[in-house]
Amino acid sequence: MIEKAKDEIVKYLRFLHKYNNEIKYGILEKDDVILELEGEYSSYPSRHKHLLSQCKVLLPCLPSKIVAVGLNYSDHAQEFKMPVPEEPILFIKPSTSAIGTGEKIVYPKMCTQLDYEAEAAVVIKKICRQIAPEKAGEYILGYTCFNDITARDLQKKDRQWTRAKSFDTFSPLGPFIVTGLNSADLMIELRLNGQVKQSSSTQNLIFPIPQLVSFVSRVMTLLPGDVITTGTPPGVGPMNIGDTVEVTIAGIGTLKNTVVGENNV
Ligand code: ZN
Repeated sequence: MIEKAKDEIVKYLRFLHKYNNEIKYGILEKDDVILELEGEYSSYPSRHKHLLSQCKVLLPCLPSKIVAVGLNYSDHAQEFKMPVPEEPILFIKPSTSAIGTGEKIVYPKMCTQLDYEAEAAVVIKKICRQIAPEKAGEYILGYTCFNDITARDLQKKDRQWTRAKSFDTFSPLGPFIVTGLNSADLMIELRLNGQVKQSSSTQNLIFPIPQLVSFVSRVMTLLPGDVITTGTPPGVGPMNIGDTVEVTIAGIGTLKNTVVGENNV
Protein backbone atom coordinates (compact mmCIF):
# COMPACT_ATOMS: atom_id res chain seq x y z
CA MET A 1 0.00 0.00 0.00
CA ILE A 2 1.21 3.52 -0.69
CA GLU A 3 1.94 5.25 2.58
CA LYS A 4 -0.17 8.36 2.78
CA ALA A 5 0.43 11.35 4.99
CA LYS A 6 -1.63 10.98 8.17
CA ASP A 7 -4.50 13.31 7.37
CA GLU A 8 -4.43 13.07 3.60
CA ILE A 9 -7.89 12.68 2.10
CA VAL A 10 -8.10 9.67 -0.22
CA LYS A 11 -11.33 8.41 -1.80
CA TYR A 12 -11.28 4.66 -2.42
CA LEU A 13 -13.83 2.92 -4.60
CA ARG A 14 -14.64 -0.42 -6.18
CA PHE A 15 -15.94 -0.20 -9.72
CA LEU A 16 -17.03 -2.07 -12.80
CA HIS A 17 -15.50 -0.93 -16.05
CA LYS A 18 -18.42 -0.79 -18.48
CA TYR A 19 -16.37 -1.75 -21.58
CA ASN A 20 -14.39 -4.75 -20.38
CA ASN A 21 -16.73 -5.77 -17.51
CA GLU A 22 -13.86 -6.07 -15.05
CA ILE A 23 -14.31 -5.30 -11.36
CA LYS A 24 -11.41 -3.30 -9.90
CA TYR A 25 -10.44 -1.25 -6.88
CA GLY A 26 -9.29 2.32 -7.35
CA ILE A 27 -8.69 5.80 -6.02
CA LEU A 28 -10.75 8.74 -7.20
CA GLU A 29 -8.10 11.24 -8.26
CA LYS A 30 -10.24 14.17 -9.25
CA ASP A 31 -13.99 14.23 -9.37
CA ASP A 32 -14.06 12.20 -12.56
CA VAL A 33 -10.80 10.19 -12.91
CA ILE A 34 -10.16 6.80 -11.31
CA LEU A 35 -6.63 5.55 -10.74
CA GLU A 36 -6.91 1.78 -10.85
CA LEU A 37 -5.10 -0.28 -8.20
CA GLU A 38 -3.24 -3.54 -8.97
CA GLY A 39 -5.39 -5.46 -6.49
CA GLU A 40 -7.43 -4.57 -3.45
CA TYR A 41 -7.09 -1.39 -1.38
CA SER A 42 -3.80 -2.57 0.15
CA SER A 43 -2.14 -2.84 -3.28
CA TYR A 44 -0.09 -0.43 -5.38
CA PRO A 45 -1.58 1.76 -8.11
CA SER A 46 -1.48 0.40 -11.64
CA ARG A 47 -0.79 2.57 -14.70
CA HIS A 48 -4.45 2.53 -15.72
CA LYS A 49 -6.77 5.48 -15.38
CA HIS A 50 -10.46 5.59 -16.24
CA LEU A 51 -13.13 8.20 -16.52
CA LEU A 52 -15.67 7.80 -13.73
CA SER A 53 -18.43 8.19 -16.34
CA GLN A 54 -17.24 4.98 -18.02
CA CYS A 55 -17.47 2.99 -14.81
CA LYS A 56 -20.20 1.86 -12.44
CA VAL A 57 -19.51 2.50 -8.76
CA LEU A 58 -20.02 -0.74 -6.80
CA LEU A 59 -20.36 -1.68 -3.15
CA PRO A 60 -16.99 -0.31 -1.91
CA CYS A 61 -16.01 -3.31 0.23
CA LEU A 62 -17.11 -6.90 0.77
CA PRO A 63 -17.54 -7.18 4.53
CA SER A 64 -17.43 -10.54 6.32
CA LYS A 65 -19.79 -8.87 8.81
CA ILE A 66 -21.48 -5.54 9.47
CA VAL A 67 -21.51 -4.60 13.13
CA ALA A 68 -24.18 -2.06 13.98
CA VAL A 69 -24.84 -0.02 17.09
CA GLY A 70 -28.28 0.72 18.48
CA LEU A 71 -29.12 4.05 20.14
CA ASN A 72 -25.85 5.91 19.79
CA TYR A 73 -27.31 9.43 19.52
CA SER A 74 -28.83 10.60 22.79
CA ASP A 75 -31.70 12.41 21.05
CA HIS A 76 -32.54 9.29 18.97
CA ALA A 77 -32.75 7.30 22.23
CA GLN A 78 -35.24 9.90 23.49
CA GLU A 79 -37.23 9.60 20.27
CA PHE A 80 -37.76 5.89 21.04
CA LYS A 81 -38.19 6.56 24.79
CA MET A 82 -35.21 4.33 25.57
CA PRO A 83 -32.67 5.13 28.30
CA VAL A 84 -29.17 6.12 27.13
CA PRO A 85 -27.16 2.86 27.24
CA GLU A 86 -24.11 2.45 29.51
CA GLU A 87 -22.29 0.41 26.87
CA PRO A 88 -22.81 0.25 23.10
CA ILE A 89 -25.64 -2.10 22.11
CA LEU A 90 -24.32 -4.22 19.25
CA PHE A 91 -26.11 -6.21 16.61
CA ILE A 92 -25.00 -7.82 13.36
CA LYS A 93 -26.30 -7.31 9.85
CA PRO A 94 -25.37 -10.14 7.47
CA SER A 95 -22.90 -9.62 4.64
CA THR A 96 -25.68 -10.60 2.22
CA SER A 97 -27.66 -7.46 3.12
CA ALA A 98 -25.00 -5.13 1.65
CA ILE A 99 -25.69 -3.22 -1.59
CA GLY A 100 -23.96 -0.29 -3.28
CA THR A 101 -25.12 3.11 -4.38
CA GLY A 102 -27.68 3.01 -7.20
CA GLU A 103 -28.90 -0.45 -6.25
CA LYS A 104 -32.46 -1.11 -5.21
CA ILE A 105 -33.78 -1.58 -1.68
CA VAL A 106 -36.41 -4.33 -1.76
CA TYR A 107 -39.51 -3.77 0.41
CA PRO A 108 -40.22 -7.26 1.83
CA LYS A 109 -43.75 -8.59 1.72
CA MET A 110 -43.33 -9.68 5.36
CA CYS A 111 -42.93 -6.06 6.44
CA THR A 112 -45.46 -3.23 6.90
CA GLN A 113 -43.11 -0.41 7.99
CA LEU A 114 -39.75 -0.02 6.26
CA ASP A 115 -37.61 2.69 7.86
CA TYR A 116 -34.43 4.47 6.76
CA GLU A 117 -31.60 5.23 9.24
CA ALA A 118 -28.73 7.44 8.03
CA GLU A 119 -25.43 6.44 9.64
CA ALA A 120 -21.71 7.08 9.38
CA ALA A 121 -19.79 3.83 8.95
CA VAL A 122 -16.20 2.77 9.48
CA VAL A 123 -14.42 0.31 7.17
CA ILE A 124 -11.68 -1.79 8.76
CA LYS A 125 -8.22 -1.86 7.14
CA LYS A 126 -6.46 -4.80 8.80
CA ILE A 127 -7.10 -7.56 11.32
CA CYS A 128 -8.23 -5.82 14.47
CA ARG A 129 -8.55 -7.49 17.85
CA GLN A 130 -8.40 -6.17 21.40
CA ILE A 131 -7.20 -2.69 20.49
CA ALA A 132 -7.22 0.47 22.60
CA PRO A 133 -9.24 3.51 21.42
CA GLU A 134 -5.99 5.46 20.85
CA LYS A 135 -4.88 2.82 18.34
CA ALA A 136 -8.19 2.68 16.42
CA GLY A 137 -7.00 5.01 13.65
CA GLU A 138 -4.36 2.49 12.53
CA TYR A 139 -7.09 -0.06 11.85
CA ILE A 140 -9.53 2.20 10.00
CA LEU A 141 -9.35 2.27 6.20
CA GLY A 142 -11.85 5.12 6.06
CA TYR A 143 -15.43 6.28 6.45
CA THR A 144 -18.50 5.81 4.30
CA CYS A 145 -22.26 6.47 4.23
CA PHE A 146 -24.59 3.76 5.50
CA ASN A 147 -28.37 3.31 5.51
CA ASP A 148 -29.46 0.89 8.24
CA ILE A 149 -32.72 -0.22 6.62
CA THR A 150 -35.08 -1.62 9.25
CA ALA A 151 -38.40 -3.45 9.19
CA ARG A 152 -39.69 -1.47 12.19
CA ASP A 153 -42.85 -3.51 12.66
CA LEU A 154 -40.86 -6.75 12.78
CA GLN A 155 -38.31 -5.23 15.15
CA LYS A 156 -41.14 -4.51 17.60
CA LYS A 157 -42.91 -7.82 16.99
CA ASP A 158 -39.84 -10.07 17.36
CA ARG A 159 -38.37 -8.09 20.30
CA GLN A 160 -34.93 -8.87 18.97
CA TRP A 161 -33.51 -7.44 15.82
CA THR A 162 -32.17 -10.15 13.56
CA ARG A 163 -35.07 -10.51 11.13
CA ALA A 164 -35.87 -6.77 11.11
CA LYS A 165 -32.32 -5.79 10.15
CA SER A 166 -31.21 -8.66 7.93
CA PHE A 167 -33.23 -8.84 4.71
CA ASP A 168 -31.25 -8.76 1.46
CA THR A 169 -30.63 -5.12 0.38
CA PHE A 170 -31.03 -3.76 3.97
CA SER A 171 -27.45 -2.43 4.15
CA PRO A 172 -26.78 0.15 1.43
CA LEU A 173 -23.27 1.58 1.85
CA GLY A 174 -20.91 3.76 -0.15
CA PRO A 175 -20.26 5.32 -2.58
CA PHE A 176 -16.61 5.82 -1.50
CA ILE A 177 -14.44 4.97 1.50
CA VAL A 178 -12.67 8.17 2.51
CA THR A 179 -9.57 8.53 4.68
CA GLY A 180 -8.25 11.59 6.49
CA LEU A 181 -11.61 12.90 7.76
CA ASN A 182 -12.21 13.94 11.36
CA SER A 183 -14.39 11.11 12.69
CA ALA A 184 -15.53 13.35 15.56
CA ASP A 185 -17.31 15.75 13.21
CA LEU A 186 -18.80 14.07 10.16
CA MET A 187 -21.84 16.04 8.98
CA ILE A 188 -24.57 13.59 7.99
CA GLU A 189 -27.86 14.21 6.23
CA LEU A 190 -30.68 12.03 4.86
CA ARG A 191 -33.10 13.11 2.17
CA LEU A 192 -36.25 11.22 1.22
CA ASN A 193 -37.48 12.21 -2.25
CA GLY A 194 -35.32 15.32 -1.94
CA GLN A 195 -36.68 16.39 1.47
CA VAL A 196 -34.27 16.56 4.41
CA LYS A 197 -35.37 14.14 7.15
CA GLN A 198 -32.22 13.68 9.24
CA SER A 199 -29.40 16.14 9.79
CA SER A 200 -26.70 15.78 12.42
CA SER A 201 -23.02 15.26 13.10
CA THR A 202 -20.95 12.50 14.70
CA GLN A 203 -20.21 15.17 17.33
CA ASN A 204 -23.48 13.96 18.88
CA LEU A 205 -22.45 10.30 19.22
CA ILE A 206 -22.74 8.88 22.75
CA PHE A 207 -19.85 6.49 21.96
CA PRO A 208 -17.38 8.14 19.55
CA ILE A 209 -15.87 6.15 16.69
CA PRO A 210 -12.46 5.23 18.27
CA GLN A 211 -14.24 3.91 21.39
CA LEU A 212 -16.66 1.90 19.25
CA VAL A 213 -13.90 0.27 17.21
CA SER A 214 -12.08 -0.61 20.43
CA PHE A 215 -15.25 -1.94 22.08
CA VAL A 216 -16.20 -4.14 19.12
CA SER A 217 -12.60 -5.41 18.81
CA ARG A 218 -12.78 -6.60 22.41
CA VAL A 219 -15.80 -8.74 21.46
CA MET A 220 -14.87 -10.10 18.03
CA THR A 221 -11.97 -10.06 15.60
CA LEU A 222 -12.56 -7.56 12.81
CA LEU A 223 -11.31 -8.43 9.34
CA PRO A 224 -10.28 -6.15 6.45
CA GLY A 225 -13.41 -4.79 4.77
CA ASP A 226 -15.61 -5.31 7.83
CA VAL A 227 -17.98 -2.44 8.54
CA ILE A 228 -18.96 -0.85 11.83
CA THR A 229 -21.95 1.43 11.48
CA THR A 230 -22.33 3.93 14.27
CA GLY A 231 -26.05 4.51 14.90
CA THR A 232 -28.57 6.98 13.57
CA PRO A 233 -29.53 10.52 14.61
CA PRO A 234 -33.18 11.56 15.22
CA GLY A 235 -35.67 11.76 12.39
CA VAL A 236 -35.95 8.13 11.32
CA GLY A 237 -39.12 7.35 9.43
CA PRO A 238 -40.84 5.14 6.89
CA MET A 239 -40.32 4.74 3.15
CA ASN A 240 -42.64 3.51 0.44
CA ILE A 241 -42.18 1.69 -2.84
CA GLY A 242 -40.96 4.18 -5.44
CA ASP A 243 -39.16 6.43 -2.92
CA THR A 244 -35.60 7.63 -3.41
CA VAL A 245 -33.43 7.82 -0.29
CA GLU A 246 -30.07 9.59 -0.11
CA VAL A 247 -27.50 9.63 2.69
CA THR A 248 -24.84 12.34 2.36
CA ILE A 249 -21.76 12.80 4.51
CA ALA A 250 -19.70 15.93 3.87
CA GLY A 251 -16.38 14.95 2.32
CA ILE A 252 -17.58 11.49 1.28
CA GLY A 253 -20.49 11.88 -1.13
CA THR A 254 -24.04 10.63 -1.52
CA LEU A 255 -25.36 7.10 -1.22
CA LYS A 256 -28.52 6.96 -3.31
CA ASN A 257 -31.02 4.09 -3.53
CA THR A 258 -34.61 3.59 -4.58
CA VAL A 259 -37.21 1.31 -2.99
CA VAL A 260 -38.92 -1.39 -5.06
CA GLY A 261 -41.49 -4.06 -4.24
CA GLU A 262 -40.55 -7.73 -4.12
CA ASN A 263 -42.46 -8.28 -7.33
CA ASN A 264 -40.36 -5.75 -9.21
CA VAL A 265 -37.02 -7.46 -8.62
ZN1 ZN B 1 -29.21 1.85 13.05
